Amino acid sequence: MAAIGSLVFCTDCGNLLDGSSGNEKAILKCDVCGTENRDTSASTITTRSKPSAFPSALRSKRSAVQTLTKEDVQKDAVIQQTCSECGSKEMRYYTQQLRGADEGTTVFYSCMVCPHKFSTNN
Ligand SMILES: [Zn+2]
Ligand SMILES: [Zn+2]
Repeated sequence: MAAIGSLVFCTDCGNLLDGSSGNEKAILKCDVCGTENRDTSASTITTRSKPSAFPSALRSKRSAVQTLTKEDVQKDAVIQQTCSECGSKEMRYYTQQLRGADEGTTVFYSCMVCPHKFSTNN
């Protein structure tokens, strides 16, 4: 597997190093300050391939709701959406990309008046 999408930064100046080979022993030389950095992307990739990293579609939907943290929230905005519990015309919503699943984005709605919440998959 190629190390696509893994980024390696210079340990000295923080410059983004290009040309990650995916080889753990490779040395990436910083264009800015000349520091030689070990390519750490390869070891990061291999330690992540646990079976639990590939949950079933059903499990990933459930856990997305249960393990929601502030870091996962990308957007928090108000939309014209009628609350089915109290009839309020506006609800807060935000979207979350499910990690490791290619089934699109989950949209979470929460009422600003009552505690009602629900989510839909795009
Ligand atoms: Zn540097
Ligand atoms: Zn409500």
